[in-house]
Amino acid sequence: MGGEARASQRDLSRPAHAAARARIYAELSLWRRAGMAACQGGGAALWLSALPTPGVTGTFIPGAAMRAAVRLWLGAPPRSVPPAPLCRCGRGADADGRHFLSACGEQTSLHTRLHHHLVHLVAEALRASPSWTDVQVEAVVARGRGALRPDLRATHAASGVVVWGDASVSAPFTDATVAMAAVAPLRAAAAVAREALKASKYDGALPATTHTFTPLVWEAFGRIGPATSRWLRDSLGGPDRSGVRATLLRRVSVALWRSHARAVSVGYSRCFGIPVVGENSVAGGPLGAVYVAGRVGDWGGFGPRRSWLGRVYLRPG
Ligand SMILES: [Zn+2]
Repeated sequence: MGGEARASQRDLSRPAHAAARARIYAELSLWRRAGMAACQGGGAALWLSALPTPGVTGTFIPGAAMRAAVRLWLGAPPRSVPPAPLCRCGRGADADGRHFLSACGEQTSLHTRLHHHLVHLVAEALRASPSWTDVQVEAVVARGRGALRPDLRATHAASGVVVWGDASVSAPFTDATVAMAAVAPLRAAAAVAREALKASKYDGALPATTHTFTPLVWEAFGRIGPATSRWLRDSLGGPDRSGVRATLLRRVSVALWRSHARAVSVGYSRCFGIPVVGENSVAGGPLGAVYVAGRVGDWGGFGPRRSWLGRVYLRPG
């Protein structure tokens, strides 16, 4: 009785959630299961609870981008028009648009921008915290392996320990991580693997024992790496911890999904010749319908057909 009395409602509901999840997963392919799992837990849903504040530094996601992001989130194809099987970058493309989020060679600059933005957000949060001083971005490790260039370094004010951080966005869509979704769907396997890779890269390469390393890894669908999460919890603690850390995690989450919406829009346009969706149109069409909005006003009653030569044209649907 005593044990039961101490169990929280969350503990009690866990088996029910696991059973419901198992029922849903049983009907899904591993690929879809991995996508759905990647959207659950580990802070992956923070962008959906962000108040839409305006401005460049705000968390507002414009309508068309929001619709594209939600389609990805729900596992729906970003557009009702299927992409060609081979992307312009030379790699295979999938109907779910995941190719553009990490693997597409045509989107390298966008992915680099996202990476730099994440580093900037973490640096900004550390600068706002009284626990940290001397926060630098892209400082070179003075000794050790010459080629190392961690994304940021900061000094812990009380202990004087210098922390090096390296940021990364890992894709939970590789064959290995998709297979992991069969046995441990809620484990952020892609982030764990990337964190381990980063840690081994810096292991033994830091200039002194007063220097430590932390990975700063998010999965492409938003789950936070466990080592990253632990470090942020320890580093941005204190009385205002809910403020600084929660704001950082929300902003990173929003940045990820803004970037994804952009990646899909640019990817479909540049790689397949499918027009960029305008702000006032319905991105990709209503879910499940054969419909695409574009540049020529109201498309009601028409469905799109796409030639494999890369041009989009219409005929009555
Ligand atoms: Zn590509």
